[in-house]
Amino acid sequence: MTKALKIFSDFDGAISLIDTGDLIVDHCIGRVARRAIDDKIVAGKMSFREGFAAQFAGVHLTWDEAVGRLQLQDGLDAAFPPFVRWTEAANIPLVALSSGFEQFIRACLTPMRLAHLEIRANRALVQGRNWQIAFRDDTPSSHDKSAALREARSQGYRVAFIGDGISDIPAARVADILFAKKGERLAEYCDQAGIAYHSFVNFDEVKMVLQQGEAK
Ligand SMILES: [Mg+2]
Repeated sequence: MTKALKIFSDFDGAISLIDTGDLIVDHCIGRVARRAIDDKIVAGKMSFREGFAAQFAGVHLTWDEAVGRLQLQDGLDAAFPPFVRWTEAANIPLVALSSGFEQFIRACLTPMRLAHLEIRANRALVQGRNWQIAFRDDTPSSHDKSAALREARSQGYRVAFIGDGISDIPAARVADILFAKKGERLAEYCDQAGIAYHSFVNFDEVKMVLQQGEAK
């Protein structure tokens, strides 16, 4: 008998077409300053954890102001809500894994009536206009997404992972079925490292591949 499937997905750039953290940081410190920090992270001069903290040290919005800006955007892949309904009808567990803020993700999912999804991510601790971060774990990445996949595999699941960026690489290496967003950095990495993946643009394509697998 085929093992039961469990699906994990990155949020920013995979489910969401915008990056929720970048949107807020760019509004507060500007895109140039934000990208200068991103460049240090990519060059290995700063860990993601340090860079993310440095970016949010420049954010002085209230929580309501930040969420208002996020919800102004219509940033979700339109194929994602039907994808969620398919997983629920088929009894396939689905978890969002993110190095962004859990509360930002829930704020984006709420208008789509998807706020009930399981989300594992960092958390923002906002007091007035002061932002602190409760990181998901102690790793330099702030959230090692591969830990969730390894746990599910040890429970006997076949795991699918959907991602787009460099923070998705550890999870990509563990997934049984991998989806990497077309033209983005995870796909580039997999091409270079010889890791097999399905290229995707939206969740209709992810669903089609997974449905074929489930029918076998
Ligand atoms: Mg991403």
